[in-house]
Amino acid sequence: MPKTSTLNLSNNLALFQYGESLGHGELHVKMDQASGLRAIVAIHNTNLGPALGGCRLYDYDTTEGAIFDAMRLARGMSYKAAISNLALGGGKSVIIKPKGDFDRVALFEAFGKFINELGGRYITAVDSGSTIDDMDIVQRYTSYVATTSSHSEGGGDPSYSTALGVFQGIRAAVKLKLNRCDLTGLHVVIQGTGHVGYPLARHLHEAGARLTVCDISLASTQRCVDEFGATVVAPDAIFDVQGDVFAPCAMGAVLDDQTIAQLSTKIIAGSANNQLAEARHGKVLMQKGVLYVPDYVINAGGLIEAAAIYQNDHPEQVRQKVLAIYDAVHEITEQALATHTDPAEVADAIAAARIYATSPLTAAAA
Ligand code: NAD
Repeated sequence: MPKTSTLNLSNNLALFQYGESLGHGELHVKMDQASGLRAIVAIHNTNLGPALGGCRLYDYDTTEGAIFDAMRLARGMSYKAAISNLALGGGKSVIIKPKGDFDRVALFEAFGKFINELGGRYITAVDSGSTIDDMDIVQRYTSYVATTSSHSEGGGDPSYSTALGVFQGIRAAVKLKLNRCDLTGLHVVIQGTGHVGYPLARHLHEAGARLTVCDISLASTQRCVDEFGATVVAPDAIFDVQGDVFAPCAMGAVLDDQTIAQLSTKIIAGSANNQLAEARHGKVLMQKGVLYVPDYVINAGGLIEAAAIYQNDHPEQVRQKVLAIYDAVHEITEQALATHTDPAEVADAIAAARIYATSPLTAAAA
């Protein structure tokens, strides 16, 4: 797969070549001069159902950056939906943040109209830079939106379900790798105690785990001290903590040659997207005897919730679907450990088989 940083739209057919390398799909572009909307919707695949994925509002430097981000992320959503057994395809939208002051309501009104024009092939949701309030505005113009404030007990915030899913994934990994069914006394090291890390810490504390946490926000770690008796370390010391499970819940690309050498936990299982700095780090972890739970498998709770609520499932059904992340993680890690294969490769193979089971377009995308 070509690196996005090396791609340039002035290059000969680079856009199509990149799309084909990812197994795309469709690309929709919208400009609305009145509101300043410049938006892109990438639909990777709809074999399993309409494409659901968040809307990212970001200050992109280049059009290429925005397009390739949308396409890369949309592919990830296809795989996340498939591995979670959802009847959904993968899509993603990006809005290029207007420079200077802008009318946010008008921007998301125009975006809502754009989504509606796609006729349900793409369902949008909250993502980095967009908010539940933004999705409420979108909902005035289209029904193809999940994660609005009318949707869930968490006020539309999918983080609670994400945290519950990560907790289930940790339980499954601990069972397989450490042969333990309960978490009492287990030492879990959490990087980032934000929207996912904090409720994850609560689940782990309630299950009897011991916690060490870090965050660049002191207020965020302090509540983990006060409520869960957590130990706090500085952000740059987190990789040196001797624990059982490392849960990255802050930013991506945290697992590289240096941090993998520092880490001593037997399990890595957290919510952060794209945790491996490079795909090869999955194998490096495996060779070190560390069980890495693929990020898009364990952090699917938010997507599962968005999909279930969009389909009007009862809250208990939603919860049951999130709890099933235990089974997904169990299946993948069991297979990976039995075959000495990188779990990320196992997950990709299972997801691709589901996505392309009914389609001849397998070669480039799988
Ligand atoms: P968040 O912004 O609420 O929390 C991230 C926390 O990490 C913040 O408290 C921040 O201060 C902290 N942080 C940033 N840099 C840090 C550093 N260097 N060291 C330690 N802490 C640092 O985000 P979130 O919603 O909790 O998401 C966390 C991760 O999980 C992200 O990678 C996100 O993409 C991913 N994720 C989130 C969801 C969801 O439902 N929120 C779903 C899937 C994936």
